[in-house]
Amino acid sequence: MTDKTINKAGSVRRVTEAEMAEQRDYISRIRAILAQRNDKPKAFVETYGCQQNSSDSEKIKGMLSDMGYEITDEIDGADLVLYNTCAVRENAELRVFGNLGALKHKKRRNPDMIIGVCGCMMQQEHIANTIKTKYKHVDMVFGTHALYRFPQILDEALKHTRVFDIENEDGAIFEEISVKRDAPPLAKVPIMYGCNNFCSYCVVPYVRGRERSRSAEDILAECRRVADEGYKEIMLLGQNVNSYGNDLPSGTSFSELLKLVCRTEGIERIRFMTSHPKDLSDDLIEVMASEPKICNQLHLPIQSGSNKVLKEMNRGYTREQYMERLKKVRRAIPDIVLTTDIIVGFPTETNEDFNETLSVLKEVEYDMIFSFIYSKRVGTPAAKMPDVLTDEEKHRNFDEMLKVQNEISKRKNETYAGTVQKVLVEGLSKTNDKTLTGRTEGGKVVNFSCSDNNDLSLSDYVGKIVDVKITSVQTWSLFGETEN
Ligand code: SF4
Repeated sequence: MTDKTINKAGSVRRVTEAEMAEQRDYISRIRAILAQRNDKPKAFVETYGCQQNSSDSEKIKGMLSDMGYEITDEIDGADLVLYNTCAVRENAELRVFGNLGALKHKKRRNPDMIIGVCGCMMQQEHIANTIKTKYKHVDMVFGTHALYRFPQILDEALKHTRVFDIENEDGAIFEEISVKRDAPPLAKVPIMYGCNNFCSYCVVPYVRGRERSRSAEDILAECRRVADEGYKEIMLLGQNVNSYGNDLPSGTSFSELLKLVCRTEGIERIRFMTSHPKDLSDDLIEVMASEPKICNQLHLPIQSGSNKVLKEMNRGYTREQYMERLKKVRRAIPDIVLTTDIIVGFPTETNEDFNETLSVLKEVEYDMIFSFIYSKRVGTPAAKMPDVLTDEEKHRNFDEMLKVQNEISKRKNETYAGTVQKVLVEGLSKTNDKTLTGRTEGGKVVNFSCSDNNDLSLSDYVGKIVDVKITSVQTWSLFGETEN
């Protein structure tokens, strides 16, 4: 087996039509080769991390389907295994290495099996080098910027060439690619890539590059496509959607884009994530309040309640400024469902700083929080900061925070008991095939049964918005039955 490195020199801002045509040729070529096989080859793609990664995986699966692969949820029997990785926390990295190690024996038994790793982890040189030298059974390694070249990369791998395509070429936005989404009713639509914020703990700007916005025309065309395919809800994605358009000649702002997306016929609900608090504009709050299709939900990461820690995190706002934004949001949208991200155990965080975070939770009363213990990321400024608290103290604080938040979340959910909620039905409940599951406009999960006084089977409800009376609640979800 030979090694080959595919690098395109310079920085590509938008992938040209000619380059995409070249990739489509690779897709056709692979399809022709695979068509000669007696059985349909199977591809297993596992995704780690955020919604952006999951959206990238939908593109990869779209390309694989076009090549003739059947997408499978079972790794056993797969002809191609691809891990789309996340670099945000160490845990996810360790799991990827563990999974790759376990594939060594499978590859020995089946040398034709293709093993690949892509995504954010692969944009880190030390990780790519580890795979190159220590995981020799891996056939292809490519970073986030090389996603559109996946057909070419796979073509090489199928010819038994080991491929590494990890050049950091900020800005490769590409359109015109098949996307294999999960079934309706929810569609993820990325509006921008990368981040300019350089929070001191975060690797995203290094692995995903600077902010690049898709054109409003391309985004709206995708929204129309998903509406035609039967999707009812759109989630607009970006690391910081609030700075959408800053790099576009048209200067279209996120609030302007939202208004345009709201005009998509057939789409009933629109959500977005993530919003950076420092860029949450009055315009955006106004559009959220006035456009009925925009869900009454906001994920606004605060990360810490201590101004000292926020400064060291380079977040660009103080606790007071954050609270002022939230006040404005709540004044405009009183029933807003609020969620946030919290990091516990940032290197310089003391117990006093942590108590300030606790006090924010008590003051705001978020519906839910996504919290993590700080994970050191190579190459970030925070990685060089000395720890103030021990691991034991960090874990103790983390547990205390969960306890406080769980009580708040449960109490917030209890206010829903007895109310009637409009629920967009997503499918059958994972734990009970006699009940359906869906979400309220605020994004709360509702499991519910249907009063069977009509001819509809349960699956007929998927994609419909139904009135559900909430009969009981738990910390993370609501339960109910359809209203007649
Ligand atoms: S805003 Fe901060 S935390 Fe979010 S992706 Fe950018 S650098 Fe990372």
